[in-house]
Amino acid sequence: MTLIDGKAYSDTIKTNLKKQCDDLKKQGITPGLAVVLVGKDEASKTYVSMKDRACELVGIHSKRINLDENTSQQELLDLVKTLNKDNSIHGILVQLPLPKHLNTDEVLEAIDPKKDVDGFHAINVGKLSQNKDGLVACTPLGVMNLLDEYGINVTGLNACVIGASNIVGKPMANLLLNRRATVSVTHSKTKDLAFFTKNADLIVVGVGKPNLLTEDMVKDGAIVIDVGINRLENGKLVGDVDFENVAPKCSFITPVPGGVGPMTIATLLQNTIKSAKG
Ligand code: NAD
Repeated sequence: MTLIDGKAYSDTIKTNLKKQCDDLKKQGITPGLAVVLVGKDEASKTYVSMKDRACELVGIHSKRINLDENTSQQELLDLVKTLNKDNSIHGILVQLPLPKHLNTDEVLEAIDPKKDVDGFHAINVGKLSQNKDGLVACTPLGVMNLLDEYGINVTGLNACVIGASNIVGKPMANLLLNRRATVSVTHSKTKDLAFFTKNADLIVVGVGKPNLLTEDMVKDGAIVIDVGINRLENGKLVGDVDFENVAPKCSFITPVPGGVGPMTIATLLQNTIKSAKG
């Protein structure tokens, strides 16, 4: 069993991005990322600070914009429009979830698709589904980067994606399909999850339920990628996989923490540099 080390690989990516950033600066371009945080959600504040630090590390100019919890839809849309026009900003990220009174879809659609470093705009989602070049959601793209780094060729594999959200499951399924894996996408209404997972050479799980994937659901030699992040009552951070019992059956597996998580931020930086290159 090989443990996939997302922390180590994300550090390698960041070192490489720093060089690319330095080259861009020599050409007079400083990559800029605007991160918009509305309200005081603690988890969001932590994520935004992590993104700030990562930007600083590679030399990306990070513009942090904190808005009041009661910001109106129009105020947020006006800010996005201003950032769309700002030549010093190459990537715009609106931290989710937004407060309930705001219309998330409308805000995401207002972002210039060329600056949509989260890859959530319908134009970029459409490009991904047509296998055209665009900006791709950071977490699933980070998973593909990890698979590539470990020499895992997904072509022809039976892949099972567990979870079908717009930010994890659906783009993950499209990325795998574009590489010609045979993909099953499962979700909360799937009748017999184990039927799909037992037949899978590759399982990517992103649901948010500790121990959802157990040993009896995984075939020998499977590759298991755990996107889930769950904080247990005792404060421990775990994924969606019963890691202790599943890992011995796997050819490759990602841990939580230290697997997919660090790749998401590295891929966000990668998308920002890609936008800055134009
Ligand atoms: P979400 O709530 O938007 O979507 C969850 C998906 O899981 C849905 O499609 C739902 O139908 C499905 N689901 C629910 N119960 C299920 C079950 N019993 N069997 C099969 N499918 C089931 O969540 P999300 O935003 O996609 O996030 C999923 C998980 O991934 C969370 O733990 C989140 O914290 C984590 N996450 C991690 C990263 C990272 O960087 N590692 C990034 C984004 C999300």
